[in-house]
Amino acid sequence: MRRKVIKAFKKNLYNFTKDNELKQYFGMKKLLVASTSTTYGGKYLEYIMNELDNFFDSKEPIIFIPYARPGGITHDKYTEIVKSSFKTIGKEVVGLHKTDNPKKTLTNAKGIFVGGGNTFVLMNKMYELNLLEKLKSAILSGVPYLGTSAGSNLCGLSIGTSNDMPIVYPPSFAALGVLPFNINPHYRDPNPESKHMGETRNTRIKEFHFFNDQPVIGLKEGSYLKVNGDKITLKGKYNATIFEKEKPPYELLAGENLKFQ
Ligand code: ASP
Repeated sequence: MRRKVIKAFKKNLYNFTKDNELKQYFGMKKLLVASTSTTYGGKYLEYIMNELDNFFDSKEPIIFIPYARPGGITHDKYTEIVKSSFKTIGKEVVGLHKTDNPKKTLTNAKGIFVGGGNTFVLMNKMYELNLLEKLKSAILSGVPYLGTSAGSNLCGLSIGTSNDMPIVYPPSFAALGVLPFNINPHYRDPNPESKHMGETRNTRIKEFHFFNDQPVIGLKEGSYLKVNGDKITLKGKYNATIFEKEKPPYELLAGENLKFQ
């Protein structure tokens, strides 16, 4: 079935969800798609730690993908931050960059975490190392996947709704497509009092929909989507904003399951 999924990967997601066998395969997805790694005043991953303890249910180390390099830090330094954070719940972490064969590592992974930083830098490296197919295959076979920010952008259909500057040129903006929509992480509601003249986030997403069809979920810091097979639940204390082409934006309440209007 895996070969069929990989073949289907090259097609549009909407086409291959029609196939029953593949639907079953999709049903195994286990993802946490978070707006951010760190909320104001908190430590790295602190706000989501309770969830992570059960989520990564294997004793095997979590494979960390550090390629988004926040602030330009080294892969080693980034991995150290993640390691010390997961240590608080007794979980081991291995940086993918430290493994001899990253493709094989992803094939055998029992838990995967892709951290935030610059989405274009992350994508570029994933394409360069030819890792997207392996990562997608692992997710579809039910390996628990945590994404924060850029790591969440990676789950959508494209990275076209990232907030990042395109400081490098990935070969494509096509993302993993394990979710049938795009993410806009670190989402903020427009501030009616603001005197800032630049585009609001809502304006930018509206512009996105002039050229693209997929829905966009604006996820506030501290919110995350919990994906269990086909069930997608908004967790954390804030609402999310859903943007659909040619419709006014609407809210998904915290705790609700995702459904489009
Ligand atoms: N730079 C963000 C991150 O922390 C991604 C984004 O805002 O699109 O990964």
